[in-house]
Amino acid sequence: MSIPGLIVGAGPIGLALAGDLGFRGVSCLLIEKGDGRVIQPKMDMIGVRTMEYCRRWGIVPWVESAGYNRDYPQDCAWVTSLNGYELGREPFPAPNDEPPPPESPQKRERCPQNFFDPVLQRFARQWPGVTISYHTELLGFTAHADRVVARVRDVRSGEEREIEASYLVGSDGGASTVRQSLGIAMSGAPTLTYTTNVVFRCDGLERLHDKKAGYRFIFIGPEGTWATLVAINGRDQWRFSLVGDRTQQTHSEDYMRRAIVRAVGRDFDFEILSMLPWIRRQLVADSYGGGRVFIAGDAAHLTSPTGGFGMNTGIQDAVNLSWKLTACIEGWGGEHLLESYGIEQRPVAIRNVAEATDNLKRMLSSRVQSPPKEIFEDGPGSDAARIDFGNRYTQAMRREWFSIGIHLGYVYEGSPIIVPDGTPRPPDEVMSYRQTARPGSRAPHVWLAPDRSIIDLFGKEFVLLRLGPDAPACDAFEQAARRRKVPFRIVDIDSTEACTLYERRLVLVRPDGQVAWRADTMPDDPLRVIDVVRGAETSIKPKKQC
Ligand SMILES: Cc1cc2nc3c(=O)[nH]c(=O)nc-3n(C[C@H](O)[C@H](O)[C@H](O)COP(=O)(O)OP(=O)(O)OC[C@H]3O[C@@H](n4cnc5c(N)ncnc54)[C@H](O)[C@@H]3O)c2cc1C
Repeated sequence: MSIPGLIVGAGPIGLALAGDLGFRGVSCLLIEKGDGRVIQPKMDMIGVRTMEYCRRWGIVPWVESAGYNRDYPQDCAWVTSLNGYELGREPFPAPNDEPPPPESPQKRERCPQNFFDPVLQRFARQWPGVTISYHTELLGFTAHADRVVARVRDVRSGEEREIEASYLVGSDGGASTVRQSLGIAMSGAPTLTYTTNVVFRCDGLERLHDKKAGYRFIFIGPEGTWATLVAINGRDQWRFSLVGDRTQQTHSEDYMRRAIVRAVGRDFDFEILSMLPWIRRQLVADSYGGGRVFIAGDAAHLTSPTGGFGMNTGIQDAVNLSWKLTACIEGWGGEHLLESYGIEQRPVAIRNVAEATDNLKRMLSSRVQSPPKEIFEDGPGSDAARIDFGNRYTQAMRREWFSIGIHLGYVYEGSPIIVPDGTPRPPDEVMSYRQTARPGSRAPHVWLAPDRSIIDLFGKEFVLLRLGPDAPACDAFEQAARRRKVPFRIVDIDSTEACTLYERRLVLVRPDGQVAWRADTMPDDPLRVIDVVRGAETSIKPKKQC
Protein backbone atom coordinates (compact mmCIF):
# COMPACT_ATOMS: atom_id res chain seq x y z
CA MET A 1 0.00 0.00 0.00
CA SER A 2 1.30 3.48 -0.88
CA ILE A 3 0.96 6.42 1.53
CA PRO A 4 0.73 10.00 0.27
CA GLY A 5 3.53 11.44 2.42
CA LEU A 6 6.55 9.84 4.08
CA ILE A 7 8.45 12.19 6.40
CA VAL A 8 11.84 11.22 7.78
CA GLY A 9 12.87 12.68 11.15
CA ALA A 10 10.54 13.68 14.00
CA GLY A 11 12.34 16.79 15.25
CA PRO A 12 10.24 19.95 15.36
CA ILE A 13 10.18 20.27 11.56
CA GLY A 14 9.03 16.72 10.79
CA LEU A 15 6.41 16.96 13.54
CA ALA A 16 5.17 20.34 12.25
CA LEU A 17 5.00 19.04 8.68
CA ALA A 18 3.12 15.90 9.71
CA GLY A 19 0.76 18.02 11.81
CA ASP A 20 0.14 20.53 9.02
CA LEU A 21 -0.54 17.75 6.51
CA GLY A 22 -2.96 16.19 9.01
CA PHE A 23 -4.59 19.62 9.47
CA ARG A 24 -5.14 19.63 5.68
CA GLY A 25 -6.60 16.11 5.75
CA VAL A 26 -3.61 14.46 4.09
CA SER A 27 -2.34 11.11 5.38
CA CYS A 28 1.32 10.69 6.15
CA LEU A 29 3.77 8.50 8.00
CA LEU A 30 6.49 10.16 10.07
CA ILE A 31 9.43 7.90 10.87
CA GLU A 32 12.07 8.65 13.50
CA LYS A 33 15.07 6.55 14.40
CA GLY A 34 15.07 7.75 18.03
CA ASP A 35 12.42 7.26 20.69
CA GLY A 36 11.09 10.84 20.67
CA ARG A 37 12.77 11.91 23.90
CA VAL A 38 14.72 15.16 23.79
CA ILE A 39 17.93 14.52 25.71
CA GLN A 40 19.16 18.09 25.39
CA PRO A 41 16.86 20.84 24.12
CA LYS A 42 18.39 22.96 21.37
CA MET A 43 15.81 25.59 20.38
CA ASP A 44 13.97 27.50 23.09
CA MET A 45 12.49 30.54 21.31
CA ILE A 46 9.37 30.17 19.17
CA GLY A 47 9.25 33.16 16.85
CA VAL A 48 6.18 35.25 16.20
CA ARG A 49 5.46 33.73 12.76
CA THR A 50 5.68 30.21 14.17
CA MET A 51 3.29 31.31 16.92
CA GLU A 52 0.90 32.55 14.22
CA TYR A 53 0.97 29.03 12.77
CA CYS A 54 0.35 27.64 16.26
CA ARG A 55 -2.66 29.95 16.45
CA ARG A 56 -3.90 28.61 13.11
CA TRP A 57 -3.44 25.06 14.41
CA GLY A 58 -5.29 25.85 17.65
CA ILE A 59 -2.36 24.92 19.89
CA VAL A 60 -1.35 28.26 21.47
CA PRO A 61 -2.71 27.20 24.90
CA TRP A 62 -0.63 24.01 24.66
CA VAL A 63 2.52 26.08 24.05
CA GLU A 64 1.67 28.43 26.91
CA SER A 65 1.12 25.57 29.34
CA ALA A 66 3.98 23.40 28.05
CA GLY A 67 6.17 23.91 31.11
CA TYR A 68 8.26 27.09 30.93
CA ASN A 69 7.87 29.34 33.97
CA ARG A 70 5.85 32.18 32.45
CA ASP A 71 6.61 34.49 35.35
CA TYR A 72 10.36 34.26 34.81
CA PRO A 73 11.93 37.54 33.61
CA GLN A 74 13.50 37.34 30.15
CA ASP A 75 16.26 39.95 30.60
CA CYS A 76 19.57 39.45 28.81
CA ALA A 77 22.65 40.68 30.71
CA TRP A 78 26.41 40.76 30.14
CA VAL A 79 28.57 40.17 33.17
CA THR A 80 32.17 39.38 34.11
CA SER A 81 30.64 36.60 36.23
CA LEU A 82 27.40 36.22 38.18
CA ASN A 83 29.32 37.26 41.28
CA GLY A 84 31.39 39.81 39.38
CA TYR A 85 30.41 43.00 37.59
CA GLU A 86 27.32 43.58 35.48
CA LEU A 87 28.25 45.47 32.31
CA GLY A 88 24.86 45.96 30.75
CA ARG A 89 21.37 44.57 30.41
CA GLU A 90 18.43 44.52 28.02
CA PRO A 91 15.27 44.14 30.11
CA PHE A 92 12.42 41.96 28.85
CA PRO A 93 9.19 41.10 30.64
CA ALA A 94 8.25 37.57 31.71
CA PRO A 95 6.22 35.69 29.05
CA ASN A 96 3.02 36.30 31.05
CA ASP A 97 3.57 40.06 30.97
CA GLU A 98 4.69 40.55 27.37
CA PRO A 99 2.02 41.87 25.00
CA PRO A 100 2.00 40.84 21.32
CA PRO A 101 3.53 43.38 18.94
CA PRO A 102 1.01 45.56 17.07
CA GLU A 103 1.80 43.67 13.84
CA SER A 104 0.63 40.28 15.11
CA PRO A 105 -2.07 38.64 17.20
CA GLN A 106 0.69 36.53 18.79
CA LYS A 107 4.03 37.13 20.45
CA ARG A 108 7.19 35.10 20.45
CA GLU A 109 7.29 32.47 23.18
CA ARG A 110 9.88 30.81 25.33
CA CYS A 111 9.34 27.07 24.97
CA PRO A 112 12.42 24.84 24.72
CA GLN A 113 12.42 21.81 22.50
CA ASN A 114 11.81 19.33 25.33
CA PHE A 115 8.48 21.15 25.84
CA PHE A 116 7.71 22.06 22.21
CA ASP A 117 8.35 18.66 20.58
CA PRO A 118 5.65 16.99 22.74
CA VAL A 119 3.24 19.83 21.86
CA LEU A 120 3.87 19.27 18.14
CA GLN A 121 3.67 15.51 18.62
CA ARG A 122 0.24 15.85 20.27
CA PHE A 123 -0.85 18.18 17.45
CA ALA A 124 0.27 15.74 14.74
CA ARG A 125 -1.18 12.71 16.50
CA GLN A 126 -4.65 14.22 16.78
CA TRP A 127 -5.23 13.71 13.05
CA PRO A 128 -6.48 10.25 12.06
CA GLY A 129 -4.33 10.26 8.92
CA VAL A 130 -1.03 10.85 10.72
CA THR A 131 1.08 7.98 12.03
CA ILE A 132 4.34 8.47 13.90
CA SER A 133 6.68 5.50 13.94
CA TYR A 134 9.60 5.81 16.37
CA HIS A 135 12.63 3.48 16.35
CA THR A 136 12.38 3.45 12.55
CA GLU A 137 15.39 4.50 10.52
CA LEU A 138 15.53 5.41 6.87
CA LEU A 139 18.32 3.46 5.19
CA GLY A 140 17.83 4.67 1.63
CA PHE A 141 15.23 5.20 -1.06
CA THR A 142 14.59 5.00 -4.78
CA ALA A 143 12.64 7.76 -6.47
CA HIS A 144 10.51 6.72 -9.45
CA ALA A 145 8.46 8.96 -11.73
CA ASP A 146 5.24 8.10 -9.91
CA ARG A 147 6.38 7.10 -6.39
CA VAL A 148 9.22 6.77 -3.91
CA VAL A 149 10.22 3.45 -2.38
CA ALA A 150 12.02 3.81 0.97
CA ARG A 151 13.98 1.14 2.80
CA VAL A 152 13.62 1.39 6.56
CA ARG A 153 14.83 -0.58 9.55
CA ASP A 154 13.36 -1.14 12.99
CA VAL A 155 16.36 -0.13 15.10
CA ARG A 156 15.33 -2.47 17.96
CA SER A 157 14.69 -5.67 16.02
CA GLY A 158 16.90 -4.92 13.01
CA GLU A 159 14.02 -5.93 10.74
CA GLU A 160 14.00 -4.16 7.38
CA ARG A 161 11.02 -3.35 5.17
CA GLU A 162 9.99 -1.16 2.26
CA ILE A 163 7.54 1.73 2.36
CA GLU A 164 6.00 3.16 -0.78
CA ALA A 165 4.94 6.80 -0.79
CA SER A 166 3.86 9.46 -3.27
CA TYR A 167 6.32 11.97 -1.76
CA LEU A 168 9.23 11.80 0.66
CA VAL A 169 10.46 14.68 2.80
CA GLY A 170 13.74 14.56 4.70
CA SER A 171 13.48 16.56 7.92
CA ASP A 172 16.28 14.41 9.22
CA GLY A 173 18.57 17.10 10.60
CA GLY A 174 22.01 18.40 9.76
CA ALA A 175 23.50 15.04 8.74
CA SER A 176 20.44 14.32 6.57
CA THR A 177 20.49 10.91 4.87
CA VAL A 178 17.91 12.22 2.41
CA ARG A 179 20.02 15.24 1.41
CA GLN A 180 23.12 13.11 1.04
CA SER A 181 21.26 10.47 -0.99
CA LEU A 182 20.11 13.21 -3.35
CA GLY A 183 23.74 14.32 -3.69
CA ILE A 184 22.91 17.85 -2.60
CA ALA A 185 25.86 19.88 -1.31
CA MET A 186 25.64 22.70 1.24
CA SER A 187 27.33 26.06 0.76
CA GLY A 188 28.56 28.54 3.32
CA ALA A 189 30.83 28.28 6.35
CA PRO A 190 31.05 24.70 7.67
CA THR A 191 32.67 25.69 10.97
CA LEU A 192 32.06 28.89 12.90
CA THR A 193 32.81 27.50 16.36
CA TYR A 194 33.24 24.23 18.23
CA THR A 195 30.86 24.78 21.14
CA THR A 196 30.05 22.60 24.15
CA ASN A 197 26.66 22.83 25.87
CA VAL A 198 25.86 21.55 29.34
CA VAL A 199 22.38 21.44 30.81
CA PHE A 200 22.60 21.40 34.59
CA ARG A 201 20.17 21.47 37.47
CA CYS A 202 20.54 23.91 40.34
CA ASP A 203 17.65 24.90 42.52
CA GLY A 204 17.84 28.59 43.44
CA LEU A 205 20.81 29.66 41.33
CA GLU A 206 19.44 33.21 41.67
CA ARG A 207 20.18 33.12 45.40
CA LEU A 208 23.87 32.48 44.74
CA HIS A 209 24.51 35.90 43.23
CA ASP A 210 23.35 39.51 43.43
CA LYS A 211 22.32 40.04 39.78
CA LYS A 212 18.69 40.48 38.83
CA ALA A 213 17.18 37.30 37.38
CA GLY A 214 17.43 36.92 33.63
CA TYR A 215 16.87 34.48 30.80
CA ARG A 216 20.33 34.87 29.34
CA PHE A 217 23.72 35.87 30.70
CA ILE A 218 26.73 36.49 28.46
CA PHE A 219 30.11 36.12 30.17
CA ILE A 220 32.91 38.47 29.21
CA GLY A 221 36.44 37.83 30.40
CA PRO A 222 39.78 39.41 29.53
CA GLU A 223 39.75 37.18 26.41
CA GLY A 224 36.33 38.58 25.38
CA THR A 225 32.99 36.74 25.26
CA TRP A 226 33.62 33.14 26.30
CA ALA A 227 30.35 31.61 27.54
CA THR A 228 26.59 32.03 27.88
CA LEU A 229 23.98 30.76 30.34
CA VAL A 230 20.25 30.51 29.66
CA ALA A 231 17.32 29.73 31.93
CA ILE A 232 16.09 26.68 30.06
CA ASN A 233 12.88 26.13 32.05
CA GLY A 234 12.75 29.34 34.13
CA ARG A 235 13.02 27.20 37.24
CA ASP A 236 15.92 24.92 38.10
CA GLN A 237 17.52 24.01 34.75
CA TRP A 238 20.20 25.99 32.99
CA ARG A 239 22.04 25.61 29.71
CA PHE A 240 25.66 26.67 29.81
CA SER A 241 27.48 27.10 26.48
CA LEU A 242 31.23 27.28 26.26
CA VAL A 243 31.28 29.17 22.98
CA GLY A 244 34.73 28.07 21.74
CA ASP A 245 36.28 29.02 18.43
CA ARG A 246 37.40 27.29 15.22
CA THR A 247 39.83 25.03 17.12
CA GLN A 248 38.46 21.55 17.56
CA GLN A 249 38.34 20.65 21.25
CA THR A 250 36.80 17.91 23.37
CA HIS A 251 36.07 18.87 26.94
CA SER A 252 35.71 16.55 29.91
CA GLU A 253 32.85 16.89 32.38
CA ASP A 254 35.37 18.10 34.94
CA TYR A 255 36.59 20.86 32.58
CA MET A 256 33.00 21.97 31.95
CA ARG A 257 32.27 21.98 35.70
CA ARG A 258 35.18 24.33 36.26
CA ALA A 259 33.97 26.58 33.43
CA ILE A 260 30.49 26.76 35.01
CA VAL A 261 32.00 27.64 38.40
CA ARG A 262 34.06 30.37 36.73
CA ALA A 263 30.90 31.81 35.14
CA VAL A 264 28.97 31.80 38.42
CA GLY A 265 32.02 33.14 40.24
CA ARG A 266 31.86 30.79 43.22
CA ASP A 267 31.70 27.11 44.10
CA PHE A 268 28.20 25.66 44.29
CA ASP A 269 26.31 22.37 44.01
CA PHE A 270 24.81 21.45 40.68
CA GLU A 271 23.92 18.30 38.76
CA ILE A 272 24.98 17.91 35.14
CA LEU A 273 22.03 16.49 33.21
CA SER A 274 23.58 16.34 29.73
CA MET A 275 26.58 17.45 27.69
CA LEU A 276 26.45 18.20 23.97
CA PRO A 277 29.47 19.15 21.89
CA TRP A 278 28.29 20.66 18.57
CA ILE A 279 29.62 22.60 15.61
CA ARG A 280 28.14 25.97 14.81
CA ARG A 281 27.71 26.32 11.06
CA GLN A 282 26.37 28.67 8.42
CA LEU A 283 25.25 26.40 5.59
CA VAL A 284 22.37 26.27 3.13
CA ALA A 285 21.67 23.36 0.78
CA ASP A 286 22.29 24.14 -2.88
CA SER A 287 18.88 22.63 -3.69
CA TYR A 288 15.81 21.79 -1.61
CA GLY A 289 15.10 18.69 -3.72
CA GLY A 290 12.71 18.15 -6.57
CA GLY A 291 10.43 15.65 -8.22
CA ARG A 292 9.09 13.54 -5.36
CA VAL A 293 11.79 14.08 -2.74
CA PHE A 294 12.43 17.26 -0.72
CA ILE A 295 14.36 18.39 2.35
CA ALA A 296 13.33 20.79 5.11
CA GLY A 297 14.60 22.24 8.39
CA ASP A 298 18.18 21.58 9.47
CA ALA A 299 18.50 19.12 6.58
CA ALA A 300 18.32 22.19 4.33
CA HIS A 301 19.96 24.92 6.44
CA LEU A 302 22.24 25.11 9.45
CA THR A 303 22.70 28.27 11.41
CA SER A 304 24.28 29.75 14.48
CA PRO A 305 21.55 29.82 17.16
CA THR A 306 22.28 33.52 17.78
CA GLY A 307 18.87 35.02 17.04
CA GLY A 308 16.81 31.83 17.30
CA PHE A 309 16.13 31.49 13.58
CA GLY A 310 16.93 27.80 12.91
CA MET A 311 13.74 26.02 13.85
CA ASN A 312 11.59 28.99 12.98
CA THR A 313 12.93 29.03 9.41
CA GLY A 314 12.37 25.27 9.28
CA ILE A 315 8.75 25.58 10.39
CA GLN A 316 8.24 28.05 7.54
CA ASP A 317 9.69 25.38 5.23
CA ALA A 318 7.16 22.89 6.57
CA VAL A 319 4.18 25.21 6.12
CA ASN A 320 5.32 26.31 2.63
CA LEU A 321 5.81 22.71 1.52
CA SER A 322 2.73 21.25 3.17
CA TRP A 323 0.03 23.00 1.13
CA LYS A 324 1.94 22.35 -2.09
CA LEU A 325 2.23 18.64 -1.31
CA THR A 326 -1.48 18.65 -0.46
CA ALA A 327 -2.27 20.32 -3.79
CA CYS A 328 -0.27 17.73 -5.73
CA ILE A 329 -1.69 14.80 -3.75
CA GLU A 330 -5.24 16.10 -4.24
CA GLY A 331 -4.58 16.72 -7.93
CA TRP A 332 -5.04 20.52 -8.17
CA GLY A 333 -1.35 21.44 -7.93
CA GLY A 334 0.32 22.34 -11.22
CA GLU A 335 3.52 20.77 -12.47
CA HIS A 336 5.69 23.72 -11.28
CA LEU A 337 4.16 24.05 -7.83
CA LEU A 338 6.64 21.93 -5.88
CA GLU A 339 9.61 23.57 -7.64
CA SER A 340 8.49 26.84 -6.08
CA TYR A 341 9.15 25.47 -2.56
CA GLY A 342 12.94 25.78 -2.86
CA ILE A 343 12.71 28.92 -4.98
CA GLU A 344 10.75 30.60 -2.19
CA GLN A 345 12.32 29.22 0.98
CA ARG A 346 16.01 28.93 0.05
CA PRO A 347 16.61 32.71 -0.19
CA VAL A 348 14.85 33.10 3.18
CA ALA A 349 17.31 30.63 4.72
CA ILE A 350 20.31 32.34 3.09
CA ARG A 351 19.16 35.67 4.56
CA ASN A 352 18.46 34.23 8.02
CA VAL A 353 21.67 32.23 8.44
CA ALA A 354 23.73 35.26 7.38
CA GLU A 355 21.95 37.41 9.96
CA ALA A 356 22.58 34.77 12.65
CA THR A 357 26.32 34.77 11.87
CA ASP A 358 26.36 38.57 12.07
CA ASN A 359 24.70 38.25 15.49
CA LEU A 360 27.45 35.84 16.51
CA LYS A 361 30.10 38.30 15.33
CA ARG A 362 28.47 41.05 17.40
CA MET A 363 28.34 38.76 20.43
CA LEU A 364 32.03 37.91 19.97
CA SER A 365 33.07 41.46 19.04
CA SER A 366 34.74 41.74 22.45
CA ARG A 367 37.25 39.12 21.28
CA VAL A 368 38.35 41.23 18.33
CA GLN A 369 38.80 44.36 20.38
CA SER A 370 39.74 43.14 23.87
CA PRO A 371 37.75 44.63 26.74
CA PRO A 372 39.67 47.25 28.76
CA LYS A 373 41.28 45.60 31.76
CA GLU A 374 39.75 48.22 34.11
CA ILE A 375 36.30 46.62 33.73
CA PHE A 376 37.51 43.58 35.69
CA GLU A 377 39.03 45.67 38.50
CA ASP A 378 37.87 47.92 41.26
CA GLY A 379 40.05 50.97 40.66
CA PRO A 380 39.82 54.58 39.58
CA GLY A 381 38.00 54.86 36.29
CA SER A 382 36.68 51.27 36.49
CA ASP A 383 33.02 52.23 36.84
CA ALA A 384 33.30 54.64 33.91
CA ALA A 385 35.06 51.97 31.80
CA ARG A 386 32.33 49.44 32.62
CA ILE A 387 29.58 51.90 31.69
CA ASP A 388 31.30 52.77 28.43
CA PHE A 389 32.01 49.16 27.46
CA GLY A 390 28.57 47.98 28.64
CA ASN A 391 26.69 50.67 26.72
CA ARG A 392 28.52 49.88 23.50
CA TYR A 393 27.91 46.14 23.91
CA THR A 394 24.24 46.67 24.79
CA GLN A 395 23.80 48.77 21.66
CA ALA A 396 25.55 46.20 19.45
CA MET A 397 23.44 43.32 20.78
CA ARG A 398 20.06 44.99 20.27
CA ARG A 399 19.80 43.72 16.69
CA GLU A 400 19.79 40.13 17.98
CA TRP A 401 17.04 40.75 20.52
CA PHE A 402 14.75 42.80 18.25
CA SER A 403 14.39 40.92 14.98
CA ILE A 404 10.71 41.10 14.05
CA GLY A 405 11.70 41.82 10.42
CA ILE A 406 13.42 38.45 10.13
CA HIS A 407 10.38 36.58 11.43
CA LEU A 408 7.61 38.43 9.58
CA GLY A 409 9.27 40.43 6.80
CA TYR A 410 10.44 37.63 4.50
CA VAL A 411 9.16 37.99 0.94
CA TYR A 412 8.90 35.42 -1.85
CA GLU A 413 10.40 37.81 -4.38
CA GLY A 414 10.60 36.46 -7.92
CA SER A 415 8.57 33.35 -7.12
CA PRO A 416 6.98 31.85 -10.23
CA ILE A 417 3.70 31.32 -8.36
CA ILE A 418 3.36 34.89 -7.10
CA VAL A 419 1.82 37.52 -9.38
CA PRO A 420 3.83 40.74 -8.87
CA ASP A 421 1.90 44.00 -8.85
CA GLY A 422 4.76 46.19 -10.03
CA THR A 423 5.30 47.94 -6.71
CA PRO A 424 8.92 48.19 -5.52
CA ARG A 425 10.20 45.80 -2.90
CA PRO A 426 10.29 47.47 0.52
CA PRO A 427 13.65 47.52 2.34
CA ASP A 428 14.48 44.24 4.06
CA GLU A 429 14.71 45.36 7.69
CA VAL A 430 15.68 43.28 10.71
CA MET A 431 14.71 45.38 13.73
CA SER A 432 11.53 46.81 12.29
CA TYR A 433 8.74 45.50 10.11
CA ARG A 434 6.14 47.37 8.12
CA GLN A 435 3.12 45.28 7.25
CA THR A 436 2.33 45.11 3.54
CA ALA A 437 0.01 43.09 1.33
CA ARG A 438 2.41 43.36 -1.59
CA PRO A 439 2.35 39.96 -3.38
CA GLY A 440 4.89 37.55 -1.89
CA SER A 441 4.57 39.03 1.62
CA ARG A 442 2.88 37.68 4.71
CA ALA A 443 -0.74 38.85 4.68
CA PRO A 444 -0.94 41.61 7.33
CA HIS A 445 -2.67 41.28 10.67
CA VAL A 446 -5.58 43.52 11.63
CA TRP A 447 -8.03 42.91 14.46
CA LEU A 448 -11.53 42.40 13.02
CA ALA A 449 -13.05 41.86 16.46
CA PRO A 450 -11.65 41.17 19.93
CA ASP A 451 -9.39 38.13 19.55
CA ARG A 452 -10.33 37.75 15.86
CA SER A 453 -7.51 38.66 13.49
CA ILE A 454 -7.90 38.85 9.74
CA ILE A 455 -5.12 36.26 9.55
CA ASP A 456 -7.44 33.79 11.30
CA LEU A 457 -9.23 33.58 7.93
CA PHE A 458 -6.19 32.04 6.26
CA GLY A 459 -4.78 28.54 6.44
CA LYS A 460 -6.70 25.90 4.56
CA GLU A 461 -7.73 27.28 1.18
CA PHE A 462 -7.01 30.24 -1.07
CA VAL A 463 -8.94 33.21 0.33
CA LEU A 464 -9.93 36.10 -1.91
CA LEU A 465 -10.55 39.17 0.23
CA ARG A 466 -13.02 41.74 -1.11
CA LEU A 467 -12.07 44.86 0.78
CA GLY A 468 -14.47 47.75 1.21
CA PRO A 469 -17.87 48.57 -0.25
CA ASP A 470 -16.55 49.14 -3.80
CA ALA A 471 -14.83 45.79 -4.24
CA PRO A 472 -15.86 44.27 -7.58
CA ALA A 473 -17.85 41.05 -7.89
CA CYS A 474 -15.62 38.00 -8.12
CA ASP A 475 -17.84 35.27 -9.52
CA ALA A 476 -15.49 34.66 -12.46
CA PHE A 477 -12.61 34.08 -10.00
CA GLU A 478 -14.66 31.58 -8.05
CA GLN A 479 -15.66 29.80 -11.26
CA ALA A 480 -12.02 29.64 -12.38
CA ALA A 481 -10.96 28.14 -9.05
CA ARG A 482 -13.81 25.63 -9.18
CA ARG A 483 -12.83 24.68 -12.74
CA ARG A 484 -9.32 23.81 -11.51
CA LYS A 485 -10.63 22.24 -8.27
CA VAL A 486 -8.61 24.73 -6.24
CA PRO A 487 -10.01 25.17 -2.69
CA PHE A 488 -11.13 28.78 -2.69
CA ARG A 489 -13.26 31.10 -0.58
CA ILE A 490 -14.33 34.72 -0.96
CA VAL A 491 -14.56 36.84 2.18
CA ASP A 492 -15.93 40.39 2.35
CA ILE A 493 -14.05 42.73 4.67
CA ASP A 494 -15.43 46.07 5.78
CA SER A 495 -12.73 47.04 8.29
CA THR A 496 -11.34 50.45 7.33
CA GLU A 497 -8.01 49.55 8.87
CA ALA A 498 -7.78 46.42 6.73
CA CYS A 499 -8.74 48.35 3.58
CA THR A 500 -5.96 50.86 4.28
CA LEU A 501 -3.35 48.25 5.08
CA TYR A 502 -4.13 45.87 2.22
CA GLU A 503 -4.15 48.86 -0.22
CA ARG A 504 -6.19 47.07 -2.92
CA ARG A 505 -9.82 46.05 -3.17
CA LEU A 506 -9.04 42.45 -4.08
CA VAL A 507 -6.30 40.43 -2.37
CA LEU A 508 -5.73 36.71 -2.91
CA VAL A 509 -4.08 34.93 0.04
CA ARG A 510 -2.54 31.46 -0.26
CA PRO A 511 -3.16 28.56 2.13
CA ASP A 512 0.13 29.38 3.93
CA GLY A 513 -1.00 32.96 4.61
CA GLN A 514 1.20 34.71 2.01
CA VAL A 515 -0.30 37.11 -0.54
CA ALA A 516 -0.38 35.63 -4.07
CA TRP A 517 -2.05 38.42 -6.05
CA ARG A 518 -3.77 41.77 -5.52
CA ALA A 519 -5.50 44.43 -7.63
CA ASP A 520 -8.34 46.92 -7.56
CA THR A 521 -10.17 45.32 -10.45
CA MET A 522 -10.85 41.79 -11.60
CA PRO A 523 -8.06 40.35 -13.76
CA ASP A 524 -8.77 40.04 -17.51
CA ASP A 525 -8.23 36.31 -17.23
CA PRO A 526 -8.91 34.98 -13.70
CA LEU A 527 -8.24 31.41 -14.88
CA ARG A 528 -4.70 32.46 -15.77
CA VAL A 529 -4.16 33.88 -12.26
CA ILE A 530 -5.46 30.66 -10.72
CA ASP A 531 -3.15 28.66 -12.99
CA VAL A 532 -0.13 30.73 -11.95
CA VAL A 533 -0.78 30.54 -8.20
CA ARG A 534 -1.33 26.78 -8.37
CA GLY A 535 1.92 26.33 -10.28
CA ALA A 536 0.47 25.28 -13.62
CA GLU A 537 1.68 28.33 -15.56
CA THR A 538 4.66 30.58 -15.11
CA SER A 539 4.21 33.99 -13.59
CA ILE A 540 2.39 36.91 -15.12
CA LYS A 541 4.34 40.11 -15.83
CA PRO A 542 3.47 42.96 -13.46
CA LYS A 543 1.00 45.61 -14.58
CA LYS A 544 2.56 49.05 -14.99
CA GLN A 545 1.85 51.24 -11.95
CA CYS A 546 0.42 54.66 -12.60
C1 LIG B 1 22.04 25.58 21.26
C2 LIG B 1 20.99 25.75 20.22
C3 LIG B 1 19.94 26.64 20.44
C4 LIG B 1 18.98 26.83 19.47
N1 LIG B 1 17.96 27.71 19.70
C5 LIG B 1 17.03 27.93 18.75
C6 LIG B 1 15.93 28.80 18.99
O1 LIG B 1 15.80 29.38 20.06
N2 LIG B 1 15.01 28.97 17.98
C7 LIG B 1 15.13 28.32 16.79
O2 LIG B 1 14.30 28.54 15.90
N3 LIG B 1 16.14 27.45 16.56
C8 LIG B 1 17.07 27.23 17.50
N4 LIG B 1 18.06 26.33 17.28
C9 LIG B 1 18.05 25.54 16.05
C10 LIG B 1 17.02 24.43 16.15
O3 LIG B 1 17.20 23.68 17.32
C11 LIG B 1 17.09 23.53 14.93
O4 LIG B 1 17.00 24.34 13.78
C12 LIG B 1 15.92 22.53 14.94
O5 LIG B 1 16.03 21.66 16.02
C13 LIG B 1 15.93 21.73 13.65
O6 LIG B 1 14.87 20.84 13.67
P1 LIG B 1 14.81 19.66 12.61
O7 LIG B 1 13.52 18.95 12.92
O8 LIG B 1 15.06 20.16 11.25
O9 LIG B 1 16.08 18.75 12.95
P2 LIG B 1 16.42 17.90 14.27
O10 LIG B 1 15.88 18.57 15.48
O11 LIG B 1 17.88 17.65 14.20
O12 LIG B 1 15.64 16.55 14.05
C14 LIG B 1 16.01 15.62 13.06
C15 LIG B 1 15.48 14.26 13.48
O13 LIG B 1 15.71 13.33 12.41
C16 LIG B 1 16.06 12.08 12.97
N5 LIG B 1 16.78 11.31 11.95
C17 LIG B 1 17.99 11.61 11.40
N6 LIG B 1 18.31 10.69 10.46
C18 LIG B 1 17.28 9.80 10.41
C19 LIG B 1 17.05 8.63 9.64
N7 LIG B 1 17.91 8.20 8.72
N8 LIG B 1 15.89 7.95 9.85
C20 LIG B 1 14.99 8.39 10.78
N9 LIG B 1 15.18 9.48 11.54
C21 LIG B 1 16.31 10.20 11.35
C22 LIG B 1 16.92 12.46 14.17
O14 LIG B 1 16.97 11.40 15.11
C23 LIG B 1 16.20 13.69 14.70
O15 LIG B 1 15.25 13.37 15.69
C24 LIG B 1 19.05 26.12 18.25
C25 LIG B 1 20.10 25.21 18.02
C26 LIG B 1 21.07 25.04 18.99
C27 LIG B 1 22.19 24.08 18.73
